[in-house]
Amino acid sequence: MCGIVAYIGNKPAQSLLLEGLKRLEYRGYDSAGMAILSDRLHITRAVGRVAMLEEAVARNPLAGTVGMAHTRWATHGDVSERNAHPHRDDKHGIALIHNGTIENYAPLKTYLQEKGHRFASDTDTEVLAMLVSELYDGDLETAVQSALREIRGAYAIAVICEKEANTLVVARKGSPLIVGIGDKEFVVASDGSAIVAHTTQVFELDDYQVCKLTRDDFRTSTLDNVPVTPKIRQLEMELEQIELGSFETFMMKEIFEQPEALRTTMRGRIDEHAGQVVLGGVGSYARDLVRARQIVLTGQGTAYHAAMIGQYLIEDLAKIPAKVEYASEFRYRNPIIVEGTVLIAVSQSGETADTLAALREAKERGALTMGAVNVVGSSIARETDAGVYLRVGPEIGVASTKAFTGQVMVLSLISLFLARRRFMSVDACEVMLEELSRVPDMIEKALAENDHIKRVTEKYCRNENWLFLGRGYNYPVALEGALKLKEISYIHAEGMPAAEIKHGPIALINDGMPAVFIANKGPQYDKVMLNIEQVKARGGRVIAVATEGDQNIKRHADDVFYIPDISDALSPLLTVVPLQLLACHAAKLRGHDVDKPRNLAKSVTVE
Ligand code: GLU
Repeated sequence: MCGIVAYIGNKPAQSLLLEGLKRLEYRGYDSAGMAILSDRLHITRAVGRVAMLEEAVARNPLAGTVGMAHTRWATHGDVSERNAHPHRDDKHGIALIHNGTIENYAPLKTYLQEKGHRFASDTDTEVLAMLVSELYDGDLETAVQSALREIRGAYAIAVICEKEANTLVVARKGSPLIVGIGDKEFVVASDGSAIVAHTTQVFELDDYQVCKLTRDDFRTSTLDNVPVTPKIRQLEMELEQIELGSFETFMMKEIFEQPEALRTTMRGRIDEHAGQVVLGGVGSYARDLVRARQIVLTGQGTAYHAAMIGQYLIEDLAKIPAKVEYASEFRYRNPIIVEGTVLIAVSQSGETADTLAALREAKERGALTMGAVNVVGSSIARETDAGVYLRVGPEIGVASTKAFTGQVMVLSLISLFLARRRFMSVDACEVMLEELSRVPDMIEKALAENDHIKRVTEKYCRNENWLFLGRGYNYPVALEGALKLKEISYIHAEGMPAAEIKHGPIALINDGMPAVFIANKGPQYDKVMLNIEQVKARGGRVIAVATEGDQNIKRHADDVFYIPDISDALSPLLTVVPLQLLACHAAKLRGHDVDKPRNLAKSVTVE
């Protein structure tokens, strides 16, 4: 959520920063701002979209080649121009932008007020800007280090100072920050997508690290000024991956990218001859994993739904007791981690604050930790003992789609990796792997239903209340379908186990209320038919996701979305696809911005 781009080099910073901010827009924000160092410090801020900031800076074009820009997602203080970043101090001409939250801002603010500092905003960020100013004694890097030693909370920051025109100082703790190395220039950003157009040589800062950048050099150190050598790597991202191409929205593009994305997820990980899964990221921990006594899966939002499917897969295939829990609950409830516990943290961004905290808690308590994340080099990826990257490419749409199927695919691979080393025969594993490798083609077939799904969505999209119902492996898919609809079309939707409706929610059903049933061929098919009848009898309208060739379903459902025939354990990889399309069409038909849903942000780096 929220974004940082900063530049020091020889190019005009203003246009470069604006372009960078546009690349970060997908992350969600409510206001934006920019500081340029030319003859002096110039700050422009605007509430609303980056386009508003663009208009404001167009009225006052500046030639400076050092600057920084920010998109804010308000946590302290309302959404207003005076609370937008950058925040500045007038004494030394210091400007600061910040992603994250400062927990001890209140006592620090009182202290600084007593020292005579006057505040122009309600933000925690301005307190940090003033603290840097208070401690400034002619060297910005030292002042930032000293200020950060006093701070509790999470931050990625960039700081410039009128008195040091050839310096940009950045730092991080708990909020991502990447430094891109160019030719006599540096581009720093909270996300690789704002860097890739300029360079692919990058390094990440670790927590509690500060980096001082001049046009020709950089220096990374700890808060106590101990020099550190960062690991420089290639940014694995291509420009076309973060551009729309012929699609109208990133969400639609990413839904359609799923076949190719999942082929990449599987590439090199299936050894068909040995009927085995190969996971490089597991390394020397394979034996500990196989001997796990308990596996805890954790995540938030869509990742939580993928984790639920992971739980079913692990128990079903690998026969290891597994449980799933919201990271936000796990981290605070004093969980019992018995010997032999493995925790799998599931996250697209690898920066989800609650998931990261749950992972640290589990580690402290002796669990072996594993990540199933998309963003290479992210905090979760770096802090886990072992991991399997999703490899689905950058996900820009706020509503997660390809990362969900990527997570389910990775959890399927982990389950088969374990299963085969425990109780599953080579033959049985081969059969599943062969089916898994056909999933991308099957998703392509499911996507071919798009026009039909759009027409059906047109019929129902004015309804304000929906139910999503599934059983077994497809209960989490029902939750995911409801979440997709809620987050981008603002329709109230609830997902639940199909059998649960008669325990209360059936009272909601009235004439014409849409109920989406996941009714693919599987062990619970007949039971699902029974649940469909219960809804029909009360006037509900039924939309079913069913297996191609199933004619019987037409007698029960008003509308049907067909998917190819697939085994129950792998069916979530297909059944979710029509639900993603349905949500995307519903949002569009209701006139909403599919990629920038209200109140939401992409990677949730605050609690
Ligand atoms: N806590 C800061 C504020 O409310 C920063 C929020 C952000 O990460 O954008 O301004």
